[in-house]
Amino acid sequence: MKTQAGVYWDKERQKPINMKAALKWALGNENVHTAIPGFTTFDQLELDLSVMGDLALTVDERKDLEQGEDMGYRGLFCDQCSVCMAQCGRGVDIPTMLRSYMYVYGYRNLAAAREALDGVELGRLACESCDRCTVNCTMGFDVRGRVRDVARIRHVPEEFVVDHR
Ligand code: SF4
Ligand code: SF4
Repeated sequence: MKTQAGVYWDKERQKPINMKAALKWALGNENVHTAIPGFTTFDQLELDLSVMGDLALTVDERKDLEQGEDMGYRGLFCDQCSVCMAQCGRGVDIPTMLRSYMYVYGYRNLAAAREALDGVELGRLACESCDRCTVNCTMGFDVRGRVRDVARIRHVPEEFVVDHR
């Protein structure tokens, strides 16, 4: 899952990730035999299926996968390594918050973002009263900023959150 890595490099959705290259990269790992890329159009379906014809990454596709780094973007995808959990003394469920962040900005799926946060106590969010973030994310994310950003979801009325899946 999450083979498309959040679909965009940036939260403004101006820099799309090469979907075909991302899928090939994931399937190129000898330990990965199945992928579950989501699609909502026939074009996306055809693109995904075309990968099965040739799994080898082209030179251009390899370059595309390095674009984020070249442009200085961290991306939207948190690899859920959980290293941050032990670094936050206030017990914030950072991986879940950042998964929700990816749903909001990458997939524009508010329902999935809200669902991910269902089990997280958002009433009193520790990051809002924490002066200094002690978390050193393995992917270099501004954890405090992202957590506070996505936590605004709790102010969106339930009836506005429509599941388009
Ligand atoms: S350390 Fe960074 S990449 Fe790892 S789970 Fe925490 S936020 Fe995600
Ligand atoms: S700002 Fe950082 S250290 Fe403080 S509560 Fe949030 S994640 Fe934890």
